Amino acid sequence: MQESKKYAVELVLIKDASILKDGCFLRDVNITIEGSRVTGIGPGIKDMSGDDEVIDASGMLAIPGLINAHTHLAMTLFRGYADDMELMPWLEERIWPLEDNLNSEDIRWGTKLGCLEMIRSGTTCYNDMYYFMDETARATKEMGLRAFLSAVLFDMRPDLIDDVEPFIRRWKGDNLIVPAVGPHAVYTCSEETLSKAMDLAEKHGVMLHTHLSETRSEVESFAKSSGQSPVEFLDSLGFLSDRVVASHCTWLSPKDVSIIAERRVNVAHCSISNHKLASGIAPLDQLQRAGANICLGTDGASSNNSLNLFQEMKTTAIAQKCAHSRPDLFKAEEIWRMATENAYAAFRLDLGIRQGALADLALIDLRKPWFCPLTEENIISHLVYSAQGGVDTTIVDGKVLMRGGVIPGEEAILDRAQQQFQDLVAR
Ligand SMILES: [Zn+2]
Repeated sequence: MQESKKYAVELVLIKDASILKDGCFLRDVNITIEGSRVTGIGPGIKDMSGDDEVIDASGMLAIPGLINAHTHLAMTLFRGYADDMELMPWLEERIWPLEDNLNSEDIRWGTKLGCLEMIRSGTTCYNDMYYFMDETARATKEMGLRAFLSAVLFDMRPDLIDDVEPFIRRWKGDNLIVPAVGPHAVYTCSEETLSKAMDLAEKHGVMLHTHLSETRSEVESFAKSSGQSPVEFLDSLGFLSDRVVASHCTWLSPKDVSIIAERRVNVAHCSISNHKLASGIAPLDQLQRAGANICLGTDGASSNNSLNLFQEMKTTAIAQKCAHSRPDLFKAEEIWRMATENAYAAFRLDLGIRQGALADLALIDLRKPWFCPLTEENIISHLVYSAQGGVDTTIVDGKVLMRGGVIPGEEAILDRAQQQFQDLVAR
């Protein structure tokens, strides 16, 4: 971070943490991190030097980082700007006019603000689609988070396509930033644009990120004009594969569900955004039974209005139970997997509290009222249904980004983001 020093050490030793391993709750575990990887788990302690960092994690649970599978990070600047509207009027009357005035400084400080919120809530990697992606990438790297960044494509901005390939070339191979291609949606991208996006993804071996079947009116008007659902249309183009992250997937026919599962598309379910915009309740039960890989995203803070995956987990679980009148559906363990292992599979991230994994993790302080009483059996339940904070430490790529609840430089970022919002609305 530019405002103050970053925590920078050779080796990190996390002492006396609790971890979850194969469904068991283990206490007093030491975790060593060297470079960007976890190099040891167990009771032994490596020789420490003066530059090494020792974190006392007694009373804390070490979890592998949560993954936000769909967001537009810089839209943190729009938080609370336009609430209580449906998707299309919300976009057309409030969001798109403001976006017309966005500049790269807005993106920079909106991104940093979003990174602060994710670091504070144990999210170590996010999947984004927006404008000025180089600025997003630079700001994210300065904050130390990992990100999959899709350069967005819209037909109404035909100039955007020219920078997609240079953007991919600039960031491919970076240790934290993974470039991708983000055709916005079938209702904003022509067949030609979608095909170009596919070709670029294929050529560079990168992921595709799109919005899919978010609202009923979008799906109905698309079917009226094309005779197909958005999912059928994308499938007819050969667009759908395990390289695709499709956000929302709220309005799907049984045939759509089968296609998504068969093509191994990764679904980024955004429960809170869907509910707040009254877009609908996604058919997660059908998707899950068909074998689809379901991950969780917050969507932008403009429609959520936070970037907290703990809130997303709880809302997903209770909304699905209620929709089916089945409290036995979507147990805490399944929801937890959506924010962790399912996302690791979607983005091919080698994460976990185990030797050799990428050192992207968080320490959660279990000495909080919402984690009490604590047993070996109820910890996942507490994480999904009752956690209201308590992330003490966040580490990404072996670097400690927050320790003891302190993120170096946070105050300056908050001040600057506040100023940037005021400049944007006055512009
Ligand atoms: Zn979105």
